[in-house]
Amino acid sequence: MNILILGNGGREHALAWAIKQNPKCDRLIVAPGNAGIAQVAECAALDILDGAAVVDFAAQNAIDFIIVGPEAPLAAGVADTCRAAGFSVFGPSAAAAALESSKSFTKAICDACDAPTAAYGHFTHRDDARDYVQTQGAPIVIKADGLAAGKGVVVAMTMEEALAAIDDMMGGQFGDAGAEVVVEEFMDGEEASFFVLCDGKTVLPIGTAQDHKRAYDGDTGPNTGGMGAYTPAPVMTDAVTQKALDQIVRPTMAAMAARGTPFTGVLFVGLMIKDGQPRLVEYNVRFGDPECQGLMMRLGGQVLDLLQACAEGRLDGEQVHWADDHALTVVMAANGYPGTYEKGTAIHGLGDLPEDSFHMTFHAGTAESNEGQIIANGGRVLGITARGDTLEQAHARAYAMVDAIDWPEGFCRRDIGWRALS
Ligand code: ATP
Repeated sequence: MNILILGNGGREHALAWAIKQNPKCDRLIVAPGNAGIAQVAECAALDILDGAAVVDFAAQNAIDFIIVGPEAPLAAGVADTCRAAGFSVFGPSAAAAALESSKSFTKAICDACDAPTAAYGHFTHRDDARDYVQTQGAPIVIKADGLAAGKGVVVAMTMEEALAAIDDMMGGQFGDAGAEVVVEEFMDGEEASFFVLCDGKTVLPIGTAQDHKRAYDGDTGPNTGGMGAYTPAPVMTDAVTQKALDQIVRPTMAAMAARGTPFTGVLFVGLMIKDGQPRLVEYNVRFGDPECQGLMMRLGGQVLDLLQACAEGRLDGEQVHWADDHALTVVMAANGYPGTYEKGTAIHGLGDLPEDSFHMTFHAGTAESNEGQIIANGGRVLGITARGDTLEQAHARAYAMVDAIDWPEGFCRRDIGWRALS
């Protein structure tokens, strides 16, 4: 089978690495890919937001299965265009991707199916949003309605912060994405990520994780795309998982099908858990990055069968074969991230790191220099991932790899997994 993965992050490297292990995979192309992905797959330059270009490329390369990694092409309808051209595609339609691309859409779906989530108001006028905040008080959460690359949420601890966030967002900070805002009740608790596959009818849980959003140790510093993760998340007990499925995920999937926009693909369910009760924080319509990296290490080659069954509406009867193990990812980022950072610095020592089913270095923002040297080419650069029988073992293996990397212009958190390890 010839497979095309769209994307260029650690998520797509991890997907490619796992899929390559499945004997059904003949040719594997990742567009546009990165320097690490080039070690397991062919990389191709392609505008992945251009559905017609993706269809042409897939036809020319006799592609049998297309996997869309990031949210932007999904929201742009690339999965729809490829499906309409007759390709088998893993990834939701643009209409179903609204679960991520519009926060007010998700809140309305939660209202329609009674899914537990934060109380909210949805506003198109700044003064109305300001009035609402003034009646609710702080802490309170202000969210740009549209996609803002993870930067469109302000958890405001004071009224001043909340009003300033409304002014910034509705004043054009995120362009059209902030023209409307959702103002939410502040939810207290422990966060976890829950991943399920859905083929429009059947829901299949494929793992839980916790990530670390803040840049520095002790959950301090600015918010980032994620500085590390581990799987499974102990807070997702069987009872919490069952409640999340029964009260949130299945009702949402039924509501999406009932309105004629069934969801097919991976649903990333962001939860806040307090006293054993999960509430929805957000949906994403793709794998999380870095969470995907540990999940792929634990799932291995079977992931291709699962994604195909999902794309073809055959999830009923599918099973996930789990080893009772743990995985942990430490993200190495360029100094200065998530602010300004340097590109082009050399990363040494990668060639000496172990690469097997317990140790992997997934590349996010890397490139290869003309001299064949791996260099940093983004903010988040590497996802050092290890698997173990225990989280302690995965943690020790991952940090041993981190310590063997010679990259003075990079940094990482030293406390990934602290919540579960303490
Ligand atoms: P991303 O997709 O990068 O996770 P996003 O921009 O889609 O981010 P959310 O996930 O909705 O935004 O919010 C980002 C973070 O803000 C959450 O992970 C959570 O820590 C916090 N947050 C969001 N909503 C609430 C809430 N109602 N109460 C408390 N914290 C919240």
